Amino acid sequence: MICQGFCQVKLQNIIIKKCSCLRCLNSFTNKKALVRHQKYCNKHDFVKIKMPEKGSILAFKNHKHSMRVPIAVHADFESFTKPIQSCQSNPEQSYTNAYQKHEPSSFSYKIVCNGKKMKPVLYTKQN
Ligand SMILES: [Zn+2]
Repeated sequence: MICQGFCQVKLQNIIIKKCSCLRCLNSFTNKKALVRHQKYCNKHDFVKIKMPEKGSILAFKNHKHSMRVPIAVHADFESFTKPIQSCQSNPEQSYTNAYQKHEPSSFSYKIVCNGKKMKPVLYTKQN
């Protein structure tokens, strides 16, 4: 029963990803609807991003569109950072500037299964 729910959600996500308009990021339930949309969408400018005014509060109101999940895992990891030396990178090429090494020190997680909270697990590295 639980697997069936997950499979339906996963299948739905796959369908949505395959039928999304890359121009406006709207998604469609099938390829035919996407093609029909694109004929209209291509006649207009790109979507203009409108951000909320500074200081305004956004809240989720459409709880009818939310979906219960049977299992949720809440987890957090902590680490100590140590500076590291690295070579000078070439600005002509893409690069990652590594400047810290993260040494894991602790983690914690808690599993909530069908509303029932399991005992949290906490691990802290000993020196
Ligand atoms: Zn579009």
